[in-house]
Amino acid sequence: MAWIWGLAGSLLIAGAAYWKRSLALSGFVSAVVLGTAMFALGSLAWFGTLIAFFVSSTLLSKLKHQRKTAAESGYAKGGRRDAGQVAANGGLGLVLCIANAVWPDPAWWMLFVGVMATVNADTWATEIGGMSLSTPRSIINGKRVPTGTSGGVTGLGLLASLLGGAFIGLIGGWFNQMGEPGNEAGTLLVLVTLCAVSGLIGSLADSWLGATWQVMFRCKVCGKTIEKQVHCKQRAVQIRGMGMMTNDVVNAVSSLVGGTVCLLLSAYV
Ligand SMILES: [Zn+2]
Repeated sequence: MAWIWGLAGSLLIAGAAYWKRSLALSGFVSAVVLGTAMFALGSLAWFGTLIAFFVSSTLLSKLKHQRKTAAESGYAKGGRRDAGQVAANGGLGLVLCIANAVWPDPAWWMLFVGVMATVNADTWATEIGGMSLSTPRSIINGKRVPTGTSGGVTGLGLLASLLGGAFIGLIGGWFNQMGEPGNEAGTLLVLVTLCAVSGLIGSLADSWLGATWQVMFRCKVCGKTIEKQVHCKQRAVQIRGMGMMTNDVVNAVSSLVGGTVCLLLSAYV
């Protein structure tokens, strides 16, 4: 029965995102698989946390896309999310959910909310930080870099990271309490704080990896520095980073950092 409820909820939400052109067809399929499995193998709290990320980041992307499209074309995070991007954002969460179903342990939940706090913090930082009026500074050396550069951070972006992480703690904790009445408000506040901190640290890790290890290319046609290998219908030249460290891999690694931070901190509260 849980599979049917999960499928219905996922079809509804991913279907709306596909309809509104936020998901490519492959992204729609993987989002439905992800959501259904999260509901059936996890709980309403696991599912609700995933949806909190998915809905808030989709709405924020929509906002940004109404403002600019040209600057976007160089970056791997295009308009419609495909299966690879959905998997990079939620795949690790699914692995943790499956692990919890096989070997139940509260540690999986802490890892999971830390991971989701990071992917959400990252997205909020990109979308909201992109609206910053001040020029970003490189996380490596503090020098000013053009808006949209991997590894560029702004004060507004950092604030958005904190809030994006806190939002996951709030929604995740709230859904979790619905399943276990009697939990005091203090538990919720602790989770919000843990998620705000781990989301911030995870998205700083993402910025740092983006500025150092992430593979970057230069288009042979238009000369733009880009994250993806093909631009202007031509194969671009690699200019730095490690070949395997694509934007999706950087996202996955940094969310693991956020999850680990959350789990470690939770041992001290
Ligand atoms: Zn080009």
